[in-house]
Amino acid sequence: HQTVDPATAERAAKSLSTSSASPLELKCSQCGITYRKQSAFDKHVENHTRPFICVFHYAGCNRTFSKKNEWKRHVLRQHICLEYYHCELPQYAAATQSATTCQVKSHPACGKTFRRKDLHREHVRRMHLLESHQEPQPIAKMQKQALRKRFQLPRKLACPVELCNFIFDGDKALDEWMEHAARHLRAAHDELEPKVEFGGSKDSCLAKWAESVKV
Ligand SMILES: [Zn+2]
Ligand SMILES: [Zn+2]
Ligand SMILES: [Zn+2]
Ligand SMILES: [Zn+2]
Ligand SMILES: [Zn+2]
Repeated sequence: HQTVDPATAERAAKSLSTSSASPLELKCSQCGITYRKQSAFDKHVENHTRPFICVFHYAGCNRTFSKKNEWKRHVLRQHICLEYYHCELPQYAAATQSATTCQVKSHPACGKTFRRKDLHREHVRRMHLLESHQEPQPIAKMQKQALRKRFQLPRKLACPVELCNFIFDGDKALDEWMEHAARHLRAAHDELEPKVEFGGSKDSCLAKWAESVKV
């Protein structure tokens, strides 16, 4: 068995990485961008296989999807949310947690909003069911009271693509708008059309609608 001293091994590794790194430029066949790191390259290529970018990309959401239905579900659940929980329970100060009884007469309303039922439940348990503030109601009832529903989906939406003049009106506007936008996203992905830019001036109605509730 041959023993290699660490310094020699290190030198060998170094020469290997430097000699292979420079000629080994990973070039994306679809857009020509080059990468040196395999991991970065893989991530980039994966984006090409995911044509459906989140409609709220402009607002900082970087999710992309390979399937249209996953994309629609994400937008509806994460950004459009028709149901949410608004907590109006009294907000207790942390200091009173250890007290057996609280002497404070009134606590300000909490005001926090939750998109998910389980997160709201967890919040109520953690922040509002303190021993010093025994709540007479069961948690299910408290959740029911906090539940808010939005019955109105956006009723008028314009296609975000500059040269496309489609307008969607009525009860099904959002679904029709998404199906339509999906076609643009696919075409852009196949490089038949320019990139779809959501959140532009034509697209402001959806943004306004989504921002009307801060969740
Ligand atoms: Zn590329
Ligand atoms: Zn998103
Ligand atoms: Zn208190
Ligand atoms: Zn709360
Ligand atoms: Zn269009």
